[in-house]
Amino acid sequence: MAVFKLEPAFKDYIWGGTRLRDDFKKKCDFDKIAESWELSCHKDGPSTIANGEYKGLTLAEYIEKAGKSVLGTDCEKFENFPILIKLIDAKDNLSVQVHPDNDYAQRVEGEYGKTEMWYIVDCDEGATLLYGFKDTISKDEFAKRIADNTLLEVTNAVPVKKGDVFFIQAGTLHAIGKGILIAEIQQNSNTTYRIYDYGRVGKDGKPRELHVDKAKDVTDLCPAKSYPETPVEKYDGYTSKLLSSCDYFTTYAVDVNTKAEFDADEKSFLSLLILEGECTISADDSVSAKMGDSIFIPAGTGKVTVDGKCKAILTKV
Ligand code: ZN
Repeated sequence: MAVFKLEPAFKDYIWGGTRLRDDFKKKCDFDKIAESWELSCHKDGPSTIANGEYKGLTLAEYIEKAGKSVLGTDCEKFENFPILIKLIDAKDNLSVQVHPDNDYAQRVEGEYGKTEMWYIVDCDEGATLLYGFKDTISKDEFAKRIADNTLLEVTNAVPVKKGDVFFIQAGTLHAIGKGILIAEIQQNSNTTYRIYDYGRVGKDGKPRELHVDKAKDVTDLCPAKSYPETPVEKYDGYTSKLLSSCDYFTTYAVDVNTKAEFDADEKSFLSLLILEGECTISADDSVSAKMGDSIFIPAGTGKVTVDGKCKAILTKV
């Protein structure tokens, strides 16, 4: 067993910025870096092991070699690796979009649906994102407003600040607004139905594809559900706050002041995404980690200590 540091895959979508290189010191030559896929077994952007005896293998190849037990018993119910964790730098608005649930996605796309969670790592003053509708609307009104480009009159724009959390159940209409840097924890899926793209063109000079019919099938035409905020739990050397818990992942915001201790038990692997500061993460061996680093710890590793001063997102299944 080991503590693995992961190298991400990068995406240069048109709305991306340069903060993942400038601030998070990611090694990527793309002009714009929209996303880094920090914990990924998805074929569209696998992450790779950066240290130890499995260095150079993709995370998926390592799991294949080491056996599925490194994912933990709670992962046995999933045929594929269940989650995908990204950093997203939205210099410009993302398209207004929706993701299908498992039933629809598996039937129509042959992969998982996508329920996701956003943690606002940083944002510009006045930044907003789009989250569901202001009020419930009819299917006819939805279709009409897509057709005549007035959808944004009925969608819910939410001002955001650092540390805010949004849970986006599959079917919830959403868009990340410009000037927001997000850590996204989602189901392992790359299925997105775009409804509105601000009239932009892609790299080839043509408007990006919209998927209006499928979006009409899967969009919940109502306000997004609100979730109560959970308390900050204080421990010796660190604090922890539950951000979300669903069928696919459980995430915590962890703020380490001096030292923290976690248990990578038999049930699930642990993922740590370091958002600020520096630390040393130790189990059988240890690695140093800093802002932007993604760490994978196999299930059954046991006690894991984090020494240093850092903020991180801790995810397990
Ligand atoms: Zn999304």
